[in-house]
Amino acid sequence: MVTTVQEKIERLVRPEVHAMRAYGVADPGDLIKLDAMENPYPWPEEIKKAWLERLLTVEVNRYPDPAARHLKTRLREAMGVPVGMEVLLGNGSDELIQMILLVLARPGAKVLAPTPTFVMYEATARFVGMQFIGVPLNPRDFALDVPATLAAMAEHNPAVVFLAYPNNPTGNLFAQSDIEEIIRASQGLVVIDEAYHAFAGRSFIARLEEFDNVVVMRTVSKLGLAGLRLGLLAGEAAWLAEFDKVRLPYNINSLTQAGAEFALANRGFLDEQTESICRERDRLFDGLSTLPDLKVWPSRANFILFRPARRKAAEVSDGLRKAGILIKNLDKSDPALTDCLRVTIGTPEENVAFLGALKKLI
Ligand SMILES: *Cc1c(COP(=O)(O)O)cnc(C)c1O
Repeated sequence: MVTTVQEKIERLVRPEVHAMRAYGVADPGDLIKLDAMENPYPWPEEIKKAWLERLLTVEVNRYPDPAARHLKTRLREAMGVPVGMEVLLGNGSDELIQMILLVLARPGAKVLAPTPTFVMYEATARFVGMQFIGVPLNPRDFALDVPATLAAMAEHNPAVVFLAYPNNPTGNLFAQSDIEEIIRASQGLVVIDEAYHAFAGRSFIARLEEFDNVVVMRTVSKLGLAGLRLGLLAGEAAWLAEFDKVRLPYNINSLTQAGAEFALANRGFLDEQTESICRERDRLFDGLSTLPDLKVWPSRANFILFRPARRKAAEVSDGLRKAGILIKNLDKSDPALTDCLRVTIGTPEENVAFLGALKKLI
């Protein structure tokens, strides 16, 4: 019998995967790239030179250290992981989300998160075959709707709750007391995703010992090392030992181990860049706030969410693209984000260019 590739695919591929679309990333071309929460600053030349010297000593003919011991020591110190808590590394925190869900995907197990939030919680839940329960945030200020969350938790008994702190794409920090209530009500694991910790200055990491159902996730991506692909999970050894079982051996390559270790040992320049991004965020927020016909939400991260009152998000996004600037159009990604856009904080020059172009479009 002759069958087409399409027929074979439909017979063999899991239907929930076949129905998905691959994670799309816009091609930036020559545009000013303000769409992906990257640090806009390059490394100082002398740091780059020292980094290359360090990389010359890496033996790429050998497998990496599977436990990444030196890097872990450096990360514990840089991230303030409490003594007594363990650390697990992922190829980006995206991989850690996948490891957590692979381990918790018992038949019928569910994943819960407030929405809108980081898209990978739902996408990964789907591809490991777990049901995703989204609980809408308060649409005015994107605070947690605690009664609705507790009700959904009572109804669905999720194996895991994800809380991005600060949240992406809304930029706000949830109230600490709201998070505590959710942790106490949870029969499952609570993952606090602190991808934007560097810009927020708030964390649950020091409180890990208080709760036996909480792990904290961090990444070096938003800090300025997105190209290295390195995330970490901090928590009780017993939890991390389970997640470690589904980790592919050598998931953190030698160049990432050496590069991240080097960057963290010389992190002064990254801290300065972070401070500058925070200053620019506050300036850009003020700039956006003075524009008429624009709703702007305060941010504790390195991006700002806004909504033009009299223009469609697509018009603004296309107009900016014509002006040479790429930002993220969030329209249709969630009912609460109709006509919303998200701009990543760039260099002072990039932010001025963005603000100038935006003024003309709204
Ligand atoms: C960007 C982001 C991540 C992914 O980080 P990587 O380490 O680059 O995979 C995780 N969580 C949130 C909330 C993010 O915004």
